[in-house]
Amino acid sequence: MKQFRYSLQLKNDLLDFFILLFNIHGMNSPHNLYIHVPFCISKCNYCAFFSRAIAPDWEYYQNQILHEVDFWHDKLGRIDVPTIFFGGGTPSLMPVETFNNIINHISSRFDLSDCVEITLESNPGTLDEKKLDDFIACGVSRLSVGAQSFDDNELNFLGRRHDAKTAIKLLDTAMQKNIRVSADFIYGLPGHNVQNIISLCDQINKIGLQHASLYELTIEKNTPFGQMNLNMPANDAMADMYLAIQDNIKLPRYEVSNYATPEHICRHNQNIWDGAPYIGLGHGARGRVFMDNTWFEQSGGDIKYSKIDNKTRAIEKLMTGLRTMRGMIIDDAIKNVLDFDFINAHNDLVKIEHNVIRATDTGILILDDLLVDILR
Ligand code: SF4
Repeated sequence: MKQFRYSLQLKNDLLDFFILLFNIHGMNSPHNLYIHVPFCISKCNYCAFFSRAIAPDWEYYQNQILHEVDFWHDKLGRIDVPTIFFGGGTPSLMPVETFNNIINHISSRFDLSDCVEITLESNPGTLDEKKLDDFIACGVSRLSVGAQSFDDNELNFLGRRHDAKTAIKLLDTAMQKNIRVSADFIYGLPGHNVQNIISLCDQINKIGLQHASLYELTIEKNTPFGQMNLNMPANDAMADMYLAIQDNIKLPRYEVSNYATPEHICRHNQNIWDGAPYIGLGHGARGRVFMDNTWFEQSGGDIKYSKIDNKTRAIEKLMTGLRTMRGMIIDDAIKNVLDFDFINAHNDLVKIEHNVIRATDTGILILDDLLVDILR
């Protein structure tokens, strides 16, 4: 585990080095790409993501994405793209031809020779083996499956359109291909306790997943769940369930909600959490663009972008970096926002070692409060 952390830290150092090098030479830094696909078959009861249950006009969607790629190519030039992530919504609904046209257009405008990962998010019931093979042939190297639960009653409660058998079949099929596979799950449903977590982790272990994301159910206002008066587990029970995940899943935790063997971590998300630049394409996508030595917050669809100052960006980086087990390197901008007196007095919650700040296992449990406390 220690070796894993330091090898990742070395990658983080290299990332900063390359950003610096690109700027010295007047070139723009590599940017990861997030492409939002805002269409679903129906809306799930808990979902506040930007997605619509409509029949998509794929040609219109494709043209919009190509237009945004051209816009950023004009701004940034032929930048390197280390990772591409198609998120949603339900990207697996997309015709393979649309996906292929988008990838081909990206590779005509940006340099994909060092692209290490193209992720496609998918939902069970929207992706058969033939379509998966076609996506893989067009470049998909990582499949993220929205399994959410292995219990049909829970899936029904969540408003999912698939059953557990369909999810397991997609996972089994995908794991036989030459790609990396992940699955998302939701826990902390009304009535859930540690026993539910143990049973979920047992099934994840049994299937042999190498990457799993386990998210606590949060109730968002403008969702069907937000209109119900659900009897949610108490905070202490949620914390017990969270701790039970680490005790029972046979995968190292590398981010608050993400567990994977070192070879299977999501490189796109790790880059974003490390503070690397990324462009969000499509309505509902957000990015952080680094251009002419300045950070910009950016949104896809209508292509808006505006400057953010170094202090704001440093706080953002801390917020994402502290969610990861490897932590965040303290550069000059981050140094300026940290309250070192608080940190030194609370080594049980947060630690600085080798110029890297990291939340401890106890600190992770109160991360939102901790992030407020460590800032000056
Ligand atoms: S499939 Fe995902 S994005 Fe679509 S409605 Fe359900 S949770 Fe939201």
